Amino acid sequence: MLYDVIKLEMHVTHTCNLTCKYCSHYCDYGYHGDIDFDTGARWLSDWSQRVNPSRFSILGGEPLLHKDIKKYIIHVANCFPKAARDLTTNGLLLSKHEDILPLLIETGTLLRLSIHPLQTRKQVELVERALLLAHKWETKGLRLVTPEFSSWTAYYHGEGKNIYPAQNERPDIVYNACRQHECTNLHQGHLWMCPLIAYLPMIADKLNNKSAWEHYLSYRPLSIDCSDAELKQFFEGPHDYSFCAMCAMVEKDVPGIMPENICADIKNEYLQLLRNKDGELSSLKIENTKLKECVDNMPDLLSELQLTAGSLDGLIHWAGMNNINSHSIRPGELARWLHETRDDLERMTQQLAKLSAHTS
Ligand code: SF4
Ligand code: SF4
Repeated sequence: MLYDVIKLEMHVTHTCNLTCKYCSHYCDYGYHGDIDFDTGARWLSDWSQRVNPSRFSILGGEPLLHKDIKKYIIHVANCFPKAARDLTTNGLLLSKHEDILPLLIETGTLLRLSIHPLQTRKQVELVERALLLAHKWETKGLRLVTPEFSSWTAYYHGEGKNIYPAQNERPDIVYNACRQHECTNLHQGHLWMCPLIAYLPMIADKLNNKSAWEHYLSYRPLSIDCSDAELKQFFEGPHDYSFCAMCAMVEKDVPGIMPENICADIKNEYLQLLRNKDGELSSLKIENTKLKECVDNMPDLLSELQLTAGSLDGLIHWAGMNNINSHSIRPGELARWLHETRDDLERMTQQLAKLSAHTS
């Protein structure tokens, strides 16, 4: 039986060139290592005989650090041809991997640039260069999602070696509110419910309070030898929510520099929003708090786009009213907002098209 699932992801490397606090792969704990291609390819081939994901993400760590990343992109496309596939990168190395862009176009793999707080001006320059490059390739057919306005979530309490699980009393609620719960991870040849659970064992020995994590470290992933019934239960439930008790999911600020070119992201988010308004909206994410923060800091962009207070504030207000503080606006909700603000958006389309022509 080929089982339909929403999303599958594989972290092809544990190494990253950033150490963002609260990284869901725990890269801020400084462990390294790649999944060698032959091993990873075998896992992928095996699971392609069992599951049919609608989305497949290749990430890490930083996937562009993997020497065989191109082989992975091709293999994932062969294994999961029907999935919306993406390569998610922090962008720092993109300008050194220009040869990867034609491959993304050829295999129909979407490039997802995720913005993280950066530590140096040099890093900012690299990400800005990556954005420009990606936009250039977009005109040649690259499917691109520019940086999301990530809010940073601490899934546990404390910091560094002194983290401890939240011991949440309603893990079912935490699970349902959690953005990671659809991020089934292919790791060590098995399926894990989310990256936080999958990679926890890799940092366990570094934790001062390891005994508090005992239950969460006892998680048993799904093996490729599972029965069809076990596979169905893994995705459909009933779930064992007890592992989600570890998560506090508290929004946190992470120190660092956000690339100034992020104004281009707003432009692009709107362009995407407009392009997609009658079609697929699932890749679009706007965080209202971050959006407001960016907008407050960018009067120039606002005047350039001649956005009315109503159009943007409307979105922010609407998001607030709908209690969307830390979660992405969902496609259906966004579609409703689009419908309600169609006139403003029509006008903005024309302005953005002009702006786009001007900047390209
Ligand atoms: S760039 Fe991504 S993978 Fe790397 S440390 Fe930051 S959040 Fe983690
Ligand atoms: S353990 Fe549960 S709540 Fe925590 S990140 Fe994973 S899916 Fe989300």
